[in-house]
Amino acid sequence: MKPFAYTSDPVRVIFGRGTLDKVAGEVRRLGCSRALVLSTPQQKTEAADLAQRLGPLAAGIFSEATMHTPVDVTERALKIVESVKADCTVALGGGSTTGLGKAIALRTDLPQIVIPTTYAGSEATAIIGETKDGVKITQRTLKVLPEVIIYDVDLNMTLPVALTATSGMNAIAHAVEALYAQDQNPVTSLMAEEGVRALARALPIIVERPNDPEARSDALYGAWLCGTCLNAVGMALHHKLCHTLGGSFDLPHAETHTVVIPHATAYNAAAAPEAMRRIAAALGARDAAQGLHDLAKRLGAPTSLAALGMKEDGIDKAADLAVKNPYWNPRPIDRAGIRRLIDNAFHGRAPTP
Ligand code: NAD
Repeated sequence: MKPFAYTSDPVRVIFGRGTLDKVAGEVRRLGCSRALVLSTPQQKTEAADLAQRLGPLAAGIFSEATMHTPVDVTERALKIVESVKADCTVALGGGSTTGLGKAIALRTDLPQIVIPTTYAGSEATAIIGETKDGVKITQRTLKVLPEVIIYDVDLNMTLPVALTATSGMNAIAHAVEALYAQDQNPVTSLMAEEGVRALARALPIIVERPNDPEARSDALYGAWLCGTCLNAVGMALHHKLCHTLGGSFDLPHAETHTVVIPHATAYNAAAAPEAMRRIAAALGARDAAQGLHDLAKRLGAPTSLAALGMKEDGIDKAADLAVKNPYWNPRPIDRAGIRRLIDNAFHGRAPTP
């Protein structure tokens, strides 16, 4: 066994079906009595239902959570926090809503309960990315780590199949990079492999039968494991590339991860053979990168950046940006290789090393 360091951050996790019933008890357990419920405009009804369940424990609802956590939205939410005298937040939704709860916690230290309804994994991390004047700044601080995560499988039943597929691939991407991380450790690698296995098993079933409770449960469990990996170890080429592509070309988050992950995996394959073996085994495939590409196709998910709206003249710009700031990656970053990767991803070709 190689020497390693492993840090587990403090978080309470409740997992199951019908666990929305437990939110009130968790608010009290935190010593709180005035929860501000957060959601996106699209999940306003669910937020209102939750506030009703909470009864006097709900101090209000703020339903303006937006992708990439814009600071002006956070400032509006802070005014509500103050006016209703909230003493905790309950974020019901995907990474966008979780991001708003984190942004509030960053500025107020209010405890957070997060009820994730996608597989993005933000609920398990001490990472926050915020956007101001079009620039996204990401930081890591325990101030934003949610105190409680409540996974309710029933809430994920409504996640549309297309978003289920891409959000699930987004989760898998966290685990893939965890398996070849510079600070990889045996515990995180166990979670990563199991996370890929659970999602790769569940997602094709959900595409066929979106309301299958066992598959939905497996996928959500896998998403928690993958989110925990994202928090526990450093990410590399894939996450940096998706950040660059998303920010520079305004590409959608989960879809970009879905398209890029087979190609980033192929790029790193020769430099990380043990990770590749474990990813392939978890996917039930012979080759890790091809297995990821096949899984995305089987799920009917997008497989090309062109389909996400990127223009071909963006390939060189993306390659330039990707090699601009050096960072650790199992295989050193070389422009020609990165350009080939982006070109393959743009055209939706099979991944090549
Ligand atoms: P999202 O939260 O933006 O959700 C996408 C849409 O789906 C929203 O309209 C939402 O209301 C809706 N939705 C969510 N769950 C639903 C459900 N069960 N049924 C019906 N509709 C539902 O998407 P996301 O992919 O979860 O999050 C993306 C954001 O999270 C990005 O801004 C990304 O940067 C961030 N993120 C942050 C971290 C971190 O660690 N800080 C990790 C992953 C993602």
